[in-house]
Amino acid sequence: MTRIKRIGVLTSGGDAPGMNAAIRAIQLTAASYNIEVIGFKHGYRGLLEQDYKTLLPHHVDNIIQRGGTILKSARCPALQTVEGPQIAAATLQQLNIDALIVIGGDGSFRGALEIAKHFAGQIIGVPGTIDNDVDGTDHTIGYATAIDTALDAIDKIRDTADAFERIFLVELMGRHSGFIALSAGIAAGAEQIICPEMAQLTASDLKSIITPIQHAQLLRGKTSYLIVVAENSYPGGTTALADALTQAIGIECRACILGHIQRGGSPVGADRILATKLGAFAVEQLLQGEHLQMAGEINGAVSLYPLAKTAERTKAIDPFLVRWQQQVGSS
Ligand code: ADP
Repeated sequence: MTRIKRIGVLTSGGDAPGMNAAIRAIQLTAASYNIEVIGFKHGYRGLLEQDYKTLLPHHVDNIIQRGGTILKSARCPALQTVEGPQIAAATLQQLNIDALIVIGGDGSFRGALEIAKHFAGQIIGVPGTIDNDVDGTDHTIGYATAIDTALDAIDKIRDTADAFERIFLVELMGRHSGFIALSAGIAAGAEQIICPEMAQLTASDLKSIITPIQHAQLLRGKTSYLIVVAENSYPGGTTALADALTQAIGIECRACILGHIQRGGSPVGADRILATKLGAFAVEQLLQGEHLQMAGEINGAVSLYPLAKTAERTKAIDPFLVRWQQQVGSS
């Protein structure tokens, strides 16, 4: 086993429910090996500004159920300068930190790779983002909670849409991927799901959306109709899409942008378990000497994946559900 006395941990990029559970697992696992844990605040900013504190077991009491992150998160443009990674590495060296654990998405992992060029110690990533758009793990920490949060909201929109027999477009997060939209849309029984992986929409071609709406109206009469839309699916956004549809079919289509609600809330059980598993695995793999790897889970088993490859491919959304949705949604 590699001799490690002190590890650093930080949460970076978009926060995700379950990040606290991961911090807790890292602290408890490290403590069981007599390793000290230094928590850096506000993502990479904490490394650049030397804003940190030693995490003791009582600091992670009662945080497993809390959303957000006790270490705070941030985007840190200063790390993307030439000096940024050098300063970050110097902080780690100065504080005698043997290894760093970065909890975040693929952007944060790119930052970690830059720091590694100047840092003699080890670095491991833990995937924490609601978007689930990180290769090398079936699910990221926060994704399961975000689906349920979105679902709760969509179910409520369905109630009012049903009462008024309205067409609603609900925009969900996902940056450039449709994981949340597909999962929440399927679970909510949405009539249509629009995400970048399923169709490339253009402002001049809305036929693929309009035809199923008109079909449904012919078949079922006036009724509620929900379209779940992943962000960045349409030029100008979902409000522009709703306006364009209203114009095209002559029936009012309303847009509802769910926004940051999807990032908050108490993590669901699946996210707490995943975060605990990956946080603990990350510490144990550091002790095994691993470096520049991400701690992920594939088919229920913990596994390592090179940090440099986490954003190499576009992780595919479930092809079975995509096909099924397109089959029933367009009929
Ligand atoms: P996420 O980790 O959720 O994908 P971002 O893409 O916003 O989030 O990245 C988080 C942070 O990671 C950035 O604010 C920056 O500090 C760091 N980062 C991202 N890409 C790079 C890069 N190419 N070089 C250095 N740091 C980077």
